[in-house]
Amino acid sequence: MRTYIKRWLSSIVFNRQGAASVEFVSILPLAVLIAMALWQLVLVGTAVMDTHASIRDAVKIASTTGDAELAEEEGITAFGDSQVYELKSLKVEIEKGEAKATAETSIPILFMESSPFSYSTSSEAPMLSQTPQLTAFGGEGAGLPGGQLAAPTPLSPGCGINCYSGHTGQDFPGPVGTPVYAAEDGMVTTVRNLGDRSYGTYIVINHGNGMQTLYAHMYPDQPLVRPGDRVQKGQPIGAVGNHGNSSGPHLHFEVKVGGRPVDPLPLLK
Ligand SMILES: [Zn+2]
Repeated sequence: MRTYIKRWLSSIVFNRQGAASVEFVSILPLAVLIAMALWQLVLVGTAVMDTHASIRDAVKIASTTGDAELAEEEGITAFGDSQVYELKSLKVEIEKGEAKATAETSIPILFMESSPFSYSTSSEAPMLSQTPQLTAFGGEGAGLPGGQLAAPTPLSPGCGINCYSGHTGQDFPGPVGTPVYAAEDGMVTTVRNLGDRSYGTYIVINHGNGMQTLYAHMYPDQPLVRPGDRVQKGQPIGAVGNHGNSSGPHLHFEVKVGGRPVDPLPLLK
């Protein structure tokens, strides 16, 4: 009896093994196929999303700044750097009061020798007015009334524009992370990372009427704004850092009128 049960048991185990290997043999290729199809789908999905992010940013920048070159640059940045698919072309045109971006992405077909297929799309937006309406400044910057810019940070001023030769702004030394505010209503034209050089990561805001303000030495991940953003006086745009050619944590703040730096202090409230 015992031998009989043993034999019966072993036959079950043997049969189970047989069944399992049949399942394995028939299901494995199917699973691989499904995984490949899913992978391909995910790849196409992310490629399409990146292409849309690219033209969305490009159109936003182009329609707010009127700078097609900068828009292409930002569009390419928004696409990211995929190792698999590739942004083949991104074209920004500004015509008849409209900004238009067209992008083409080439997406490979996985595990096949065939050539990749292309996905192309475009987007457009009306151009926005170049000069935001100012509440504080009038004229061409000549004879600016004093005390009309908001303080760019709650910190006390340190080394100023005449502090040493070649210093183009006003420093506000203070701890890393102290908030930095837009000194006036305007539009962000530049958010750039120069690495260890010069300003480090800096922001430029155009206030119209030939006036710009610049905020330097933030860390690369500190800016809260992007090129094309409209900001209001007193709005937080980032935080004090120690990035770039900086001797210690501080905000370097510049006011430019007609492209030339002026002493910011008399303009601050
Ligand atoms: Zn400085």
